[in-house]
Amino acid sequence: MVLDCAIIGGGPAGLTAGLYATRGGLENVTMFEKGMPGGQITQSSEIENYPGVTGEISGMDLMMPWPEQCQKFGLKHEMVEVKRVSKDGDIFKIHKEDGSTTEAHSVIVCTGSSPRRAGFAGEDELFGKGVSTCATCDGFFYKGKEVAVIGGGDTALEEALYLAKICSKVYLIHRRDAFRSAPNTIERVKKTQNIELVLNTTPEEVYGDNMGVTGIRVKNKEGEIRDIKVPGVFIFVGYDVNNQTLIQEDGSFLCDTNKQGEVVVDISMRTSVKGLFAAGDMRIEAPKQVISAAGDGAVAALQAISYVDEKLNS
Ligand code: FAD
Ligand code: NAP
Repeated sequence: MVLDCAIIGGGPAGLTAGLYATRGGLENVTMFEKGMPGGQITQSSEIENYPGVTGEISGMDLMMPWPEQCQKFGLKHEMVEVKRVSKDGDIFKIHKEDGSTTEAHSVIVCTGSSPRRAGFAGEDELFGKGVSTCATCDGFFYKGKEVAVIGGGDTALEEALYLAKICSKVYLIHRRDAFRSAPNTIERVKKTQNIELVLNTTPEEVYGDNMGVTGIRVKNKEGEIRDIKVPGVFIFVGYDVNNQTLIQEDGSFLCDTNKQGEVVVDISMRTSVKGLFAAGDMRIEAPKQVISAAGDGAVAALQAISYVDEKLNS
């Protein structure tokens, strides 16, 4: 059987694409998601900018009902990692990690992005042993203890605020003296008494013993070294585009991408390849928000419906 539409990735973009594609009349739609559906927002301790959702809500709680809503309209879900999407004539092939393939008339790629490593000594070795990229997952381990947060964007500041509620102290280490984050978040951080700003400072090395991290050595722009004794180091230094499924056997991309590897789309989420759409954080100029990823998914699904309809009925 050839699917009407294959959706790769089950974050806000993929789930919304699945909802709109099935509810909009496509019969055979499968979402391929390598983990639990929900996407990267499930790592967030608090989301306060999703319209209509008031009060304190975690990313996990926000996303919990989305898969069930899609399944009600017939979306199928395969829990599998997609290795590659290729096109043979006018049929797409979804190459899965177990070596099997699925064919589809249209594809919506929504694979989002992944946390980046900062690149200092000890980071990889101590990852999972005190070095983390997820405060919601690991913050509780440091209840009443001191931790360090690396980064100066929205994620670093929001997660520093979250950790400050659990931990006795948070050292927020940033390589510049200006943050990229939203102004009200910066204000909240500055007003939080147990957050110490360690600015114009970069990590040199995270170190530890058999039990895990015991501290981080940092250097400021005057060259002064400081040892911060903490058992937990949280790294929030941005994300890489998950565009691997679009890389072909010869190393080229299936569709156009920009220098950063983001997928080039038009306002209707159409890529340079007919029948292939991209939605969410992986596309050019993505605002990287749940609401915009969901909006992209809806737009892409509506386009996929038109594309499949025209292809099969003309
Ligand atoms: P993602 O959410 O990244 O989902 C992509 C999915 O694809 C993942 O589930 C992944 O497992 C899957 N996948 C990847 N590769 C493959 C593959 N090869 N095969 C199968 N599946 C694959 N936004 C807000 O609006 N408000 C906030 O308050 C907010 N806070 C945030 C806090 C944190 C800590 C983080 C990390 C992000 C936050 N964001 C927030 C941003 C928001 O989470 C993203 O913009 C949004 O999740 C993007 O959705 P997406 O569907 O494009 O991608
Ligand atoms: P980001 O905005 O790219 O910020 C990354 C931060 O890490 C920057 O401050 C950067 O410093 C620093 N950094 C990068 N590489 C480093 C290194 N090797 N060593 C030390 N520091 C390093 O990433 P993000 O905060 O994860 O946000 C990603 C996107 O999601 C953004 O568009 C953001 O707006 C969005 N987001 C939104 C919300 C929200 O709306 N509530 C929440 C979370 C994320 P420089 O500043 O010096 O470059």
